[in-house]
Amino acid sequence: MITSEAVPWAKAGGLADAVSALAQELDHSGHDVRILMPRYQGIRRDSLYRYPTPFTVRVGEEIYTTAVYEGRLGDSSVVVYFIDYEELYAREGIYGAGGSGYPDNLRRFSLLNHAAFAIGAFIGWEPDVLHSHDWPAAIVPVIAQRRRAMGAPGPATVLTIHNVGYQGTFPVGDLPHSGLSWIDLSESQLLHYDSLNLLKAGIVNADMVTTVSPQYANEIRTPRRGFSLDKVLSGKDERFVGILNGVDYEVWNPEKDPYLDAKYTPETVALKDRAKQTIQSELGLPITNDLPLIGMVSRLVDQKGFEELSSPGFGALPDILESGETQVAILGSGDERYEYYLRTLAHRYRNLSVVIGFDDRLAHLIEAASDFFLMPSRYEPCGLNQLYSLRYGTLPIVTRCGGFVDTVEPVSARGGTGFFIDEACPSAIGSTVLAAVGMWHRERARIDTMRRAAMKMRFGWERAAAEYVSVYERALAAARGGPGA
Ligand code: ADP
Repeated sequence: MITSEAVPWAKAGGLADAVSALAQELDHSGHDVRILMPRYQGIRRDSLYRYPTPFTVRVGEEIYTTAVYEGRLGDSSVVVYFIDYEELYAREGIYGAGGSGYPDNLRRFSLLNHAAFAIGAFIGWEPDVLHSHDWPAAIVPVIAQRRRAMGAPGPATVLTIHNVGYQGTFPVGDLPHSGLSWIDLSESQLLHYDSLNLLKAGIVNADMVTTVSPQYANEIRTPRRGFSLDKVLSGKDERFVGILNGVDYEVWNPEKDPYLDAKYTPETVALKDRAKQTIQSELGLPITNDLPLIGMVSRLVDQKGFEELSSPGFGALPDILESGETQVAILGSGDERYEYYLRTLAHRYRNLSVVIGFDDRLAHLIEAASDFFLMPSRYEPCGLNQLYSLRYGTLPIVTRCGGFVDTVEPVSARGGTGFFIDEACPSAIGSTVLAAVGMWHRERARIDTMRRAAMKMRFGWERAAAEYVSVYERALAAARGGPGA
């Protein structure tokens, strides 16, 4: 797997969780899985093995002399190779700093892609399948096709799109940094609306393309949600499929979560109140059991609905808070604009607490402490937090899109596990949240039934990994031009 993120080493979002969990699950079922990623500044060298010889990678005209470090993923036998090249990777952020991408991202990630082909000879191991994740690894399928065209049979390629909104677009003049040639600069390849578009080129050339939920796979084949790649994706026909992400229930499980003083099961779900008190006192919210708590843990970006929630004179949060019927706790970081809006609101309303930052412990505590988990996303490829929420008996309030549709069962007379916002707009967000809160105040038995149902749902990686294996087999068949191609 070629990736820009993998827990525990580098995480900006769900991609990091998905890559490591999938690798481990495949490892458990007997596959030899290895991960290739950059060694960013925060990844300490002292716990890793350093290969004694330098590793050279050619990217077009440039030759990079790098070091390779090796580590293991958890207690699995998944080997992780880190490309160490300080000038490009030893920086604070993964993609950039202060909300904007590094200007040399094309160089940074092109090196990673070309390294995927050079490293086989260096370590003495060649994979059957190269599995790329997102635009930072999307050149891999292009290189693979070019090599095949020259008569070098190489590995099959699979590209997984974790979010089609991020495509890796760069000025055409930067092409030399990609190590690809001017011949690749056509509308059917790298060129897309006058820019280089790495994700597009990856989709076109990959033997198989996947995304992270079946519903999102359907949505991004339409102009409304395809971010201009809908036709390219439709063109893949059966070679493009949606596979729902799973959850690592070793990490997200209220029965053994080390961050919780009072662990709980569906039968003892009332113990959530203990976590609620902890959060209320840590975050400076009034300590009470008479109000439900709505939690959010998120990147603070447009996609996650923060414009609709928090922008002055327009957002849904003031109405929700002024109802006096609920408390809200938000943990997140991202666009400075939303950080500012949320901080301003938190000054004004005692029943809102906002923590700006990235904090794994607090993320777990908020999941456990909250009665509802709010995700008013404009679009959502899969979404992990609603899956964690279900396991913690925290009912998701989500927009009717993407992975939410595949994982949350709408409230009904028969039960359900969460609440759907019909449209990501402030009035719909406000009315759905207040309806859920109203049910908490007036029909608590219904909420408790939903909670228990939610806690029993399972979205394990076992099923997802089996689906990926069948995708790998189809990719291999396609690469050989055989059946399934
Ligand atoms: P996305 O990948 O689009 O950001 P997901 O819901 O798929 O959204 O995954 C987000 C992951 O990142 C979850 O594991 C979530 O708990 C975590 N996360 C996001 N923001 C924070 C934060 N500020 N602190 C801790 N964890 C966070």
